Amino acid sequence: MALRQIRIYGDEKLAKACRPVQFVSPRTKLLIRDMLDTMYEANGVGLAAPQVGILKQIVVIDIGDAEGEDAEPGIGCGDGPLVMINPEILETSGEQTGQEGCLSLPGQAGMVTRPEYVKVKAFDEDMKEFEVEGRGLLARAICHECDHLQGIMYVEKVEGDLFEVTDEEEE
Ligand code: ZN
Repeated sequence: MALRQIRIYGDEKLAKACRPVQFVSPRTKLLIRDMLDTMYEANGVGLAAPQVGILKQIVVIDIGDAEGEDAEPGIGCGDGPLVMINPEILETSGEQTGQEGCLSLPGQAGMVTRPEYVKVKAFDEDMKEFEVEGRGLLARAICHECDHLQGIMYVEKVEGDLFEVTDEEEE
């Protein structure tokens, strides 16, 4: 297990657009493993490569059973992590407004409006293309992490002020 240092809001890497991944090298696989370790260690539900200082289009998400009994089983939801390389949001619908946090801004959260549903296309670690649909928290996490790849932090979308939280799950 190898942990990487999570960059904190204000770090220039968090404000830059990431490059698409052309092929998955052993180094890229190691990065993905480290991102997962780092996310779980920090009790996060998602992490994007720029948060560990790497400007590549890679995100990992695991919302666990955070949605409780209403959760629909699926990738990134109780069945282990969702790893997305070069993700591209194809479709969105609906709207949800809820609390959002970020591992790059520990201890804080804010209210953000996101789509209730997203459909996203991405590549897995074998560069095989796949599509995944997410609702609720998974949709929120996908949007949050995809924003990171464009150098966008959720604070730019917060309605009202940030507030302090303890022990919340962060993305
Ligand atoms: Zn984040």
